[in-house]
Amino acid sequence: MALPTFKYHPDPVATGSVKASDAVCRCCGQARGMIYTASVYAEESLEDSICPWCIADGSAAQKFEATFSDDIPLIEAGLPDDVIEEVTTRTPGFNSWQQETWQSCCEDACEFHGDAPRAELLELQGDALAETLAACEWDESIWTPFVQGYQPGGNPAVYKFVCRHCGKVKYVVDFT
Ligand SMILES: [Zn+2]
Ligand SMILES: [Zn+2]
Repeated sequence: MALPTFKYHPDPVATGSVKASDAVCRCCGQARGMIYTASVYAEESLEDSICPWCIADGSAAQKFEATFSDDIPLIEAGLPDDVIEEVTTRTPGFNSWQQETWQSCCEDACEFHGDAPRAELLELQGDALAETLAACEWDESIWTPFVQGYQPGGNPAVYKFVCRHCGKVKYVVDFT
């Protein structure tokens, strides 16, 4: 069964937020072969217990009054309510060391593409590099050795977001 389409998280299997599992979803009560593995903000502990279909149709968010990402960065970016709602309640979130910061661009939320590939970070230069450094408040003397030793999925982590409109790529550094 094909995964639902998530506008803001196009490949949640590749990013590790959804994995193959025979677990029963606590929302729909079915074992559908895939389970969501990343953050759930809800009263109940819902780790590894919601299927991606119940995220996509909003039923898990509704049933458990759950969200899957922090809405603060999206509110601060001034995004429309319907975009914020789609990202936080109908889109798989991701695991991060600190509270995740969903990126936005062109008055919309960006797509989440998981851990940045090391080769891309090594090639960063010019404005793209300057913007990444400004966002993480590092200078090149920290960045260059960091990228040399960077491993996707490690700590620090670097997440990749892509604008759905202008194609701009944003990298977010996250660490404990
Ligand atoms: Zn389900
Ligand atoms: Zn853009």
